[in-house]
Amino acid sequence: MKWMIRVDMEGLTGVVNMSQVVPGAGEYPFGLSMLKHDLLAVIDGLLQAENDRVVLYDIHFFGTNVEFFSLDPRVSVICGKPNYTPENKAYLQEGYDGMVLLGLHARAERPGSVLNHNYEHDIRVMSVNGLVVGEIGLEALMAGEAGVPLVLVTADSDGAKEARELLPGVLTVTVKESLGDAAALCYPPSVTGELLREGARACAKKAAELKPFVIDGPIELDMQFKPGELFHKLVKRVPEAFVAPDRFVFKGDSVLEAWEKYLVAKA
Ligand SMILES: [Zn+2]
Repeated sequence: MKWMIRVDMEGLTGVVNMSQVVPGAGEYPFGLSMLKHDLLAVIDGLLQAENDRVVLYDIHFFGTNVEFFSLDPRVSVICGKPNYTPENKAYLQEGYDGMVLLGLHARAERPGSVLNHNYEHDIRVMSVNGLVVGEIGLEALMAGEAGVPLVLVTADSDGAKEARELLPGVLTVTVKESLGDAAALCYPPSVTGELLREGARACAKKAAELKPFVIDGPIELDMQFKPGELFHKLVKRVPEAFVAPDRFVFKGDSVLEAWEKYLVAKA
């Protein structure tokens, strides 16, 4: 089988603050060690046959967080966050059986959910045709447009809950219980490693049962921003998308098309 793992860091084992996930920050090496731990456990669970393949797309910060030396030869990694487009179908154009979101977190504006946010920390609220989504929902929708179901989400307890509410039936692995914006009850790697491996092992059967998550176009991606540099850049670059003092609406035939307009505007 062939799997895509989107790799994030805020929802990893033991991670509770930004200093652990921002490249160059003091505790970033701790975040990297947790990334390696969680990722290797999930890959180990997914790779069950000689012909199985895993592609990683690193969605965190610069997209250069994955440590290569310990990767199985059946794994390859998309680094540097190349833009998702309708043409490349968010890099899911070549027959994937399912997608895994690793190290995810709850959407922004969820006080008390550890490291809750939507991509850039300037994005307060995102909705697709009225459905409020965070990174879990948006990644699931863009994969859905490529015909690929979201099968497993690994996250803190609130991120996992968000995934199950949005996509009933999706597998989730909770690696820590959210206790605040920068706090959690963390299970040790000796516990989460086995949970992650088990969750990944269950993906093969689950992928056959789950349907891709799709909202039919036309699409309106409504995004509300905090005031700041990104907001002012967007006002200048895409005045046609600017609809309220703090909101932009990106339109497209698909979520991927609307999202690409945002990515190009903020670049
Ligand atoms: Zn994230």
